[in-house]
Amino acid sequence: MLADVAEVVSRSHDLEETLANVTELVAKRLDADVCSIYTVDTAQQRLTLSSTIGLDPNSVGRVTLEMGEGLVGKTASQGEPIAIEHALADPHFLYFPETKEERYESFLSAPLIVQGVVIGVIVIQTVEARRFDEPDIELLQTCASLLAPVVVNAQLLAMMSASDEDRAQLVGEISSSGVVKTRAPKSPRAEKNVMLRGLATARGVAIGPVFRLDREMDLERIEYVPSQDLVQEQADIKEALSEARREIADMREVVRDRFGPEFAAVFHAQIQILEDKGFVQNVTQAVEQTHNARDALASVLETYRRTFDRIEDPYFRERGVDIADVGQRVMAKLLGVRDHIEPMKAGSVVVVDQLLPALFAQVEMDKVSAIIAEHGGQTSHGVIFARTLEIPSVTGVAGILEEAREGEAAIVDGATGTVYLSPDELLTREFEQAQHRYEVAVEHLDAMRERPAETLDGKRIRLSANAGLLADLRLVEKHGAEGVGLFRTELLALAHRGFPSEEEQQQLYNRVVEFLDPRSVTIRTLDLGGDKGIPNIGLDDEENPQLGCRSIRLALENRPAFRAQLRAILRASARGRVRLLLPMISGLAELREAKALIDETRTELTREGSAYDPDLKVGIMIEVPSAAITARVLAEECDFFSIGTNDLTQYTLAVDRGNEKVAHLYDSLHPAVLQLIHLTVLAADDAGIPVSICGEMATNPLAVPILVGLGIGELSGTPASVPVVKEIIRALDVGEVEADARAALAARTAAEVHVIAATRLRSAGLVDHPDIGGWLGQLLDEALAN
Ligand code: PEP
Ligand code: MG
Repeated sequence: MLADVAEVVSRSHDLEETLANVTELVAKRLDADVCSIYTVDTAQQRLTLSSTIGLDPNSVGRVTLEMGEGLVGKTASQGEPIAIEHALADPHFLYFPETKEERYESFLSAPLIVQGVVIGVIVIQTVEARRFDEPDIELLQTCASLLAPVVVNAQLLAMMSASDEDRAQLVGEISSSGVVKTRAPKSPRAEKNVMLRGLATARGVAIGPVFRLDREMDLERIEYVPSQDLVQEQADIKEALSEARREIADMREVVRDRFGPEFAAVFHAQIQILEDKGFVQNVTQAVEQTHNARDALASVLETYRRTFDRIEDPYFRERGVDIADVGQRVMAKLLGVRDHIEPMKAGSVVVVDQLLPALFAQVEMDKVSAIIAEHGGQTSHGVIFARTLEIPSVTGVAGILEEAREGEAAIVDGATGTVYLSPDELLTREFEQAQHRYEVAVEHLDAMRERPAETLDGKRIRLSANAGLLADLRLVEKHGAEGVGLFRTELLALAHRGFPSEEEQQQLYNRVVEFLDPRSVTIRTLDLGGDKGIPNIGLDDEENPQLGCRSIRLALENRPAFRAQLRAILRASARGRVRLLLPMISGLAELREAKALIDETRTELTREGSAYDPDLKVGIMIEVPSAAITARVLAEECDFFSIGTNDLTQYTLAVDRGNEKVAHLYDSLHPAVLQLIHLTVLAADDAGIPVSICGEMATNPLAVPILVGLGIGELSGTPASVPVVKEIIRALDVGEVEADARAALAARTAAEVHVIAATRLRSAGLVDHPDIGGWLGQLLDEALAN
């Protein structure tokens, strides 16, 4: 179905054609005699027949109904599908003679919903009586959910073509969005081995050519001399449009292959813009008027931008982001910024301002060998994704954007936070050897993946891994994790720039659950906001996003999106071992509200006859100090705790986890954080529920003895760290680390805790370990130096 939608988008050039292609596709897919689409005019609250296959084509645009009127109106007002075998006899059936509808016996409809708003209804009808079963209804609903955004985009583009005021006005400024490659206008570097330091963020060594990704490209500054010849200008803009289209289509392929089709959907909207007859016409007409392709494109984009800015609904307004993004791409093509289309070289070292999660949805990650960011701390979400994908990274490297030249060689040492630009041969060789040693150590540990994570005195610790992409699951298996202790679901939303539909989520979760079976997966509901902001959820204006409407708060504000996710998780739970995790709970009221929604979802699924695990466990993250302090109360009403030490540290110490300026204050081994973990473990033990750690602390070698000593039974972290943590656990004695934990709780500073932990790791003989001893020794030296 996703492939079919992509195909419809590629061959539709305006609203009418899009709707016609959609109805044709659905009629074929569902083997129906009629397929019609009714669209909602929100101002008038009426539905109009906008396209049909099977009914009299002359009735298009003429048949209109009120919301709630007839079966179609009822579908729109209740926001749910309707299936009727004998529609003609139904009291709600409303007959419009102009449609010649009396021949059709059975009726099935589904609402087209975008961001919780009904924007239309899709209907199929059959001549022969047909009892629509659950799979038919589900298929039409899937069609509806995938096609609704396509219809909205077509409507918006149609609206744009209609408003041609201001077109002649030339406006230079183009708002840019998304990641755009810049050229670094620098002279070649004479000096070698330029060293810069930042925060050691994701382990590993990489050597490769620099690939700069700057968020803004100032196309204004690039000179453009129009040709004297209008025909040539027209040809140039046409070429730029089709090059941009090719490029987007290529990206769509890459993303689809790497992350799955549901991640590629974001590119449909962009292709739709470039295929849109109105958009292309506006641009060509403007070229005719101005004889200057650049000015023409700039003015059309500006008109579109202004029109979008005037749309009140924030969701629809934000669709303007796609136009700006596409416009920027076309402009780059026109101005001959050819670097933009040059594919990234394999093994590239990506240089960015900030390591944002969206990067992973936009860039060919399999060609990235390392990431260097000018700003950022060690536990921001982008960093976590890098670590999960095992991409060595260094953040907070002041001066890297100024220094790094496109294409020059760079060495990144993610373990020490060191970056070298233009290294000489000697240095390169030294690092190649280090890289080799690291790879051999990891391979060696992986080979012992079947050994249990058990202390010397026989206490078994469960070691699982965190994941957020299908690609991560391979690593979960490779490094011998026992399951996924935290599946972050935000990437899909980031790739979509909005809340994904139930179907898209379900496809992803099903694959995750099936891949892992019989191992379990803990799926966390959307944790957006904070540093994981996306444009379509209207959060841009928050002054203090980390304390704002993020995570569970955002989910509770966006009920339809939250429900869609709960349904997808519950339905996936029928296929394997799933647990559901609620992020950022700060008190009982939030937990109760979320649980009430989960219960409603269960009832709904039972009523529909959809399968789910009736014993699905619902747990909460303890990542806000108030939750840790009141853990006893919360433990009464949930099935498990998962301590998110990344946020717990940020909120306890009031240290932004993404700000390199305060990174030296960010320490999960601070006694205050340990006290909160201790409180949580005591409450969980008393209530008889399991407690795990799923923050980065779980795989910090220094933290492992303390956490085991505090009584944590499960650690979940970056997959690649699992073998190292296992080696550490296998060298510990519970009696000894319990004493360490008591000492750590009584410590006055984080530095004192470091000494306690480092002493334990040394006395356990881990610095002599043949595989990890070398870097562990270095790590302990550094920890003690701080
Ligand atoms: C945490 O806060 O520790 C956590 C695991 O969640 P995230 O890093 O996704 O905020
Ligand atoms: Mg968190």
